[in-house]
Amino acid sequence: MSPRKEVIRDDSLAAETHQGPTAFDRGDHEERVPRDGAAPGIADRAQDPTADEDDAEVEPSLRPRRLADFVGQTELKERLEIVLEAARMRGQAVDHLLFAGPPGLGKTTLAGIVAAEMRAGFRVTSGPALVRTGDVAAILTDLQVGDVLFIDEIHRLGRAVEEVLYPAMEDFQLDIVLGKGPTARSIRLELPRFTLIGATTRTGLVTGPLRDRFGFVARLDHYGPGELVAIVRRSARLFGTEVTDAGAAEIASRSRGTPRLAIRLLRRVRDFVEVRGAGVVTLEVAREGLECFGVDELGLDRVDRMILETLCERFAGRPVGLSTVAVSIGEEPETVEDAYEPFLLQAGLVLRTPRGRLATPAAFRHLGLAIPPHVEAAAADLSTGTPAWIHGRSGRSRGRHLAPEGPSLFDAVGEDDPCS
Ligand code: ADP
Repeated sequence: MSPRKEVIRDDSLAAETHQGPTAFDRGDHEERVPRDGAAPGIADRAQDPTADEDDAEVEPSLRPRRLADFVGQTELKERLEIVLEAARMRGQAVDHLLFAGPPGLGKTTLAGIVAAEMRAGFRVTSGPALVRTGDVAAILTDLQVGDVLFIDEIHRLGRAVEEVLYPAMEDFQLDIVLGKGPTARSIRLELPRFTLIGATTRTGLVTGPLRDRFGFVARLDHYGPGELVAIVRRSARLFGTEVTDAGAAEIASRSRGTPRLAIRLLRRVRDFVEVRGAGVVTLEVAREGLECFGVDELGLDRVDRMILETLCERFAGRPVGLSTVAVSIGEEPETVEDAYEPFLLQAGLVLRTPRGRLATPAAFRHLGLAIPPHVEAAAADLSTGTPAWIHGRSGRSRGRHLAPEGPSLFDAVGEDDPCS
């Protein structure tokens, strides 16, 4: 892909008050390829936290431009404020920053805020878009002093491209090899001091040498209910939609701690309200609208429930290998692991054990199923340590986990899968 297509300059973010839609506003910089963790197999998944095309269209106009308007992440904001202030005082570009965390928590937004706060140009690209070293060289040589270069999904950079970034980040130098074979020669170009902001959903996949070159690494956490209510209210105001306190709280409580989902659910409910002619998003309307889109009171969608049904009903609460879970919902194991599992784990509905994925009593309760005795016993065991059955050792606990005529926790289903 040509870098010109991928990278859109947006100096307008530097302006304090900004008028008219910019490339950033329009979301032109967003790639139209599925981003990491997207679920290509199951269309229209309600609660996929990666941006879909509609999100990409709406979100840019909702993005806060100032750190003060960015809701939540208090500690991170305080630390970032100091980093920005220090750069201002030195009259230099901000240190390179790495933002880590699940999709939809505000990494791109924060990068835009850094550029706006520093009145710097903002250029956006992503790991998968930088295929050849020439792609990254073209972008780097086009930077102006102080510019912010944002690389989304930075863990997906190829090795050769990453190696071009090392001297660029450390010494603001670019080594270019001209020609091939014995006549090849290398020239060194000076680059302006710029700020690289990387974003990743998979910190573990960012190589050590790359991570070490960031002056500030921050992890974004899921948001609390009050923060999500504030985001729903702010977005409703920008949409011109009236929402009651209880309506906003209902949407927030089903949005899995993720601003992108809160905003998407608000849009769905707004559509529902408009079609029904209800006018205001009340608690009842929010509930009805969200049920209608298949999002239940825990914020689970159809696919999440399919996973729980697989674990609880089909395999009767035994540990199930990741690949078996994936096959039973028609997905790739990586997609299950990246896109579906994190929330189920976080919500305490599923446990990851070396024997496989295990539904908790809460999962059975959520589906309205009786909790099998071996699941109760396993949950009790797990709360007091690591029981023998987890590692597949026979022993004292083997008998305990045999339900009268039910399965044993030693009977894991599927090959799998050492926990990652
Ligand atoms: P990420 O880059 O982590 O996937 P984005 O920065 O694209 O997430 O944010 C997704 C959406 O959520 C955007 O519309 C953004 O405006 C909104 N958003 C995210 N975090 C916040 C926040 N802290 N305050 C207000 N809006 C937020």
